[in-house]
Amino acid sequence: MTTSSNPGNVQAFKELDEAIDALDPVVALMSLIQITGDRSLLQCYGDALEGTQHTVKEAFVAFGEEREPPGEAALRTAQIVRDLLREAVKSGKQPLMPHPDKRLFHEMANRVTGVEIPAMSVEPAFQHAGFTTDTRVREPVRLPSEDFKVLVVGAGMMGINAAVKLQQAGFDFTVVEKLDAVGGNWLENTYPGAAVDTPSRVYSFSFEPNASWSKYYPNGPEFLSYLERVTDKYSLRDRIHFGTRVDGAAWDEVRKLWTVSAERGGEQVVYEVNALIMAVGPNNEPNYPKVENLDTFKGPVVHSAHWDHSVDLKGKKVVLVGTGCSGVQVATAIAGQVGELVIVQRQPEHILPNPTAHDPVDPLEIRAMERVPFAAQWKRLQSLASQLTDMHGMVLKDEQYAAETGGFGPINDGMRMLCEGYLQSHFPDDPELVAMLTPNFPVFSKRPILDCGFYDTLKKPNVSIVRGALQGADENAVILDDGTRIECDVLLLSTGYKLHFGRQFDIVGRDSKRLRDVFDPYPFSYEGMLVPGFPNFILGGGPYSFLVANHAVVSEQQMHYAIELLQWMVDDGLSSVDVTQKATDAFVEDVDSNLQQSAWVQCGNAHGYYRDQGKKVILAIPRHNSRIWHDLRVPRQEDFRVTRWNDAEPATEPEMTMLTI
Ligand SMILES: Cc1cc2nc3c(=O)[nH]c(=O)nc-3n(C[C@H](O)[C@H](O)[C@H](O)COP(=O)(O)OP(=O)(O)OC[C@H]3O[C@@H](n4cnc5c(N)ncnc54)[C@H](O)[C@@H]3O)c2cc1C
Repeated sequence: MTTSSNPGNVQAFKELDEAIDALDPVVALMSLIQITGDRSLLQCYGDALEGTQHTVKEAFVAFGEEREPPGEAALRTAQIVRDLLREAVKSGKQPLMPHPDKRLFHEMANRVTGVEIPAMSVEPAFQHAGFTTDTRVREPVRLPSEDFKVLVVGAGMMGINAAVKLQQAGFDFTVVEKLDAVGGNWLENTYPGAAVDTPSRVYSFSFEPNASWSKYYPNGPEFLSYLERVTDKYSLRDRIHFGTRVDGAAWDEVRKLWTVSAERGGEQVVYEVNALIMAVGPNNEPNYPKVENLDTFKGPVVHSAHWDHSVDLKGKKVVLVGTGCSGVQVATAIAGQVGELVIVQRQPEHILPNPTAHDPVDPLEIRAMERVPFAAQWKRLQSLASQLTDMHGMVLKDEQYAAETGGFGPINDGMRMLCEGYLQSHFPDDPELVAMLTPNFPVFSKRPILDCGFYDTLKKPNVSIVRGALQGADENAVILDDGTRIECDVLLLSTGYKLHFGRQFDIVGRDSKRLRDVFDPYPFSYEGMLVPGFPNFILGGGPYSFLVANHAVVSEQQMHYAIELLQWMVDDGLSSVDVTQKATDAFVEDVDSNLQQSAWVQCGNAHGYYRDQGKKVILAIPRHNSRIWHDLRVPRQEDFRVTRWNDAEPATEPEMTMLTI
């Protein structure tokens, strides 16, 4: 029987044809070039396809992009390209150009994203879109010895990522996790409506791009099952000690080891390791507000981070405190089942429209990404596009513009107008509500919220919102700071998390210095993850590590750096690497001074977790995402004080190399 007459193949080819018909023609061209290895196709069809790119559906990219529909000629070219692609995919040949050279990739990336990708973003784009797993810079001189032990604390997104990279680099590592399964945040946050609010194509590992996301912003369980799949694919479970809670660690200067203490099943466990990677995440201790007499409240009190699924909300009068990212998701998900919902809002936040918050991805698009080589990567790149350009216009104040207009900056103000217009459009006849929901600070002063249906929820007859802070409770009600008493059966708290930055542990570094003390009054770091006096210690997602991107990107860049640092130790026989105070001060000074221009610092009266304990901003780094990618490629050796095996004393702090301008 010939291939074409096999009924199974006929059906498969029919499905492929339909999927390719639905594929963005420019993505189709890029896949075709890679399959055929023929770069001349870009010149041949690239210009003619202009205007045929599909609108990327994710928020930020799609706003206001009213484009002319493509002309006849462009559509004919699209058909030609799709036909060529069909033929190429059906031939089943191995793609001839899996790794286009940098120049070609840049040209292809510009076409596929419709923006001019800056030169500094080409390599980050190539990696984060998922075109390579070869991200290492150092040519390892030798494999790490079996005596070189690494401990990772935490099996969430960052811990899994660390484990994959350590395994690939040949390190002997163990992961300890206080819970009984992987997933971290996505395991614990099971509240109704829990969902990713960063486009899923980019909020996932570049080395494991997923063609099959069912939604642009998947629900928590779908994201959790992705993390579980990655864990299984890389056979990581055997390396994870579940149910093991770390409480502290002490550096042994003589043996150049960390002694890490933990508790498992009531027993004390000790690990001795050469390097310690903390991947404990920012959001795993729920923040409970102080509420007078809460113990007298007769109904259930549930924090969204520890949802109690046995509590039946049907027909109940529910008070929900908090309107951050989780709060709006909870409200939207439960409004239809509760009897009455009163939402307590301490402060409004800018809410950006997100028309695709709940949209399923077109099954044909999924099929195309699953079946057409590299389509998933090019689609991923389209979602990444905005993160590859300089996003700081959104966050940084434009002083001249501000002096002239009283605004903050043209892009930030534009976004503010978009949010305000969106709010207004929902409540055209209710100026009081609009005023109450309008923040008086720039966008990004707090984490902006992508609308998941919150404004529509507020229109429901059984839903109301009040301004206030929770202060007390009695048997049947909660009491706000202005004395308002709201009767209710159930109290839901979406009041965020306590961000510790390592201060929850008793970590003792060189010269018996405690991390907690060193971080008083404020936590700080070098490059978002190292602290002087704490050798061989990586504080993943430390102070100044969050980008104007997403946690998948942060996690990959930081864990890449960690591997480069550890391999340097292996290759050069180093027993310890400790970042210098001088280099750290220089980093902190530079970041702090740039932060002064940011909406995070110039935030008016906005409160939120961007400010450590309501004071100094240490969460995010006001640098171009791609600059950070380059900064974290390799450790700058001159920024470290190192010891070698058999060295009696640590080498003295090296001089910083002076730049000649
Ligand atoms: C509801 C929710 C939605 C979010 N949505 C997004 C989003 O859309 N985009 C985005 O970029 N970010 C989002 N975030 C931020 C989120 O924190 C990160 O994206 C990411 O999941 C964090 O991964 P992580 O591995 O660093 O931390 P976690 O997922 O918190 O994992 C840390 C792990 O460490 C373990 N651990 C902690 N303490 C100990 C201890 N003492 N001993 C042993 N193990 C310990 C924890 O149990 C956990 O498994 C969201 C957060 C929440 C809570």
